[in-house]
Amino acid sequence: MSKEAYSDFYNFVIIGAGPAGLTAGIVAARNGFNAIIIEKGERAGPKPRGEGMQYYPLIDEILGNQFLQSIYHRKTPGGQVYHSPGDLKKVEITKSPGFFFDWRDFIDRFVEIINDLEVEIFLNSEVIESIVKNDICVGVKFKRKNGEIKEIYGNIILDCSGHKGVIGKFYDISYQNEINCPIIKCLVSNGNIDIRETPCLQFYFIGNGDLDYSPEFPQCVTYVFPIGGTNMEVGLMLRMTHAREMKTVKIPSKDEIMNVWSKLKEGYPGFSEFFKGAKIDYEELTAISNCKMVENVVPVPGLVLIGESAGFVDPFGSSGLYFSMAMAKFWVTMLSKKLDTISEGNKDISKHLNEIWNPENIKEYSDKFEDYEIYKDIKNSYNLIGAFEYKIFRRLRTAEKINNKWDWISSMLIQAANKSKS
Ligand SMILES: Cc1cc2nc3c(=O)[nH]c(=O)nc-3n(C[C@H](O)[C@H](O)[C@H](O)COP(=O)(O)OP(=O)(O)OC[C@H]3O[C@@H](n4cnc5c(N)ncnc54)[C@H](O)[C@@H]3O)c2cc1C
Repeated sequence: MSKEAYSDFYNFVIIGAGPAGLTAGIVAARNGFNAIIIEKGERAGPKPRGEGMQYYPLIDEILGNQFLQSIYHRKTPGGQVYHSPGDLKKVEITKSPGFFFDWRDFIDRFVEIINDLEVEIFLNSEVIESIVKNDICVGVKFKRKNGEIKEIYGNIILDCSGHKGVIGKFYDISYQNEINCPIIKCLVSNGNIDIRETPCLQFYFIGNGDLDYSPEFPQCVTYVFPIGGTNMEVGLMLRMTHAREMKTVKIPSKDEIMNVWSKLKEGYPGFSEFFKGAKIDYEELTAISNCKMVENVVPVPGLVLIGESAGFVDPFGSSGLYFSMAMAKFWVTMLSKKLDTISEGNKDISKHLNEIWNPENIKEYSDKFEDYEIYKDIKNSYNLIGAFEYKIFRRLRTAEKINNKWDWISSMLIQAANKSKS
């Protein structure tokens, strides 16, 4: 898969082999352009992230007919149960059914198609910085495992490096302080769960000030996804949208987050029940860029941020798999058309940089993106969750007040779910 011989100029230079980068590579190749994907891990999508999604026709288009239906190990009925702080009250809302699968099965299918299309993937290659000439991002520098530094150039550079935003962060995008929320990914077998009694996804709200062992801990949500038999995906997501501005919150260190997680597993009402006798197979603190969308996804001519590095995640439900694929397809299709128009059959691709990235074209790309239905949906979703969390986690804040207003919160959750279905 990883070829040593490569040219030093591509139409598309793609950073990161997650769902966004792999979709970008597939769409570019299907449009007749050459592309290279540079991935720091020793394989594509080295660490598991999302393993559940609803069905969308785009998945068939990119990965083959009925692909999701061929890999899933559980189809959920679509319900989600939200528990108030202390598990005193709950509300169930209906969503569209979803599929749970293994990350590896999902990613391997992308790689199979990438290989068939002869898109090059460079593994063990960590992109470290962009190369900018005449104010256009024309390439990137990357470091091989043996320490060697290489350069690669292209017409279009796509940063698909996820929440790390490896190139985006050089352009004043503060992933850590504005875009990301810390999240623990945890896979469990032999959980204390009877899937007939608990078929739906469970979410537990915890307000700031609710944990006596960590009173300044930010508002957060723990969750349990029943993924088949006694297997579960569980986790903890800190909700940072307003937390950084709250005087009652102290931003925790990684160790503090892991300590709170241990205590929640041991004794948080309702949630800890699922852990009796359970075996933890995977547990990692990572981040998800679902706090805020990046405002300008073309921070410098030549470079586009795609997927999680653009914060392009539906923050309600933290779904990023479909949206990163959709954004990659949108941008690669639009830029492929521009390359086609500009090149008019002239194969000397290295000459077209200025024409692709002149200010009128950049404005055209941005306008079209802001007019894209899925962009509007994600933007609305961020606005909605921002207002929602302001009222619940900032104004009401603590368990007592959130529980007192639970009927009103329940009706807001139901309305939000209906909105996202329509
Ligand atoms: C715990 C958790 C649970 C989730 N659950 C769901 C879910 O159920 N459903 C859902 O739809 N979404 C879910 N998501 C979100 C979803 O996984 C992501 O939104 C999606 O993976 C984003 O795709 P991406 O390609 O943009 O980024 P990523 O999947 O993060 O891929 C980025 C790639 O870039 C590589 N990379 C990073 N830095 C560099 C560098 N410097 N050089 C080269 N390569 C680099 C990484 O190794 C990785 O392969 C979840 C996320 C987390 C963390």
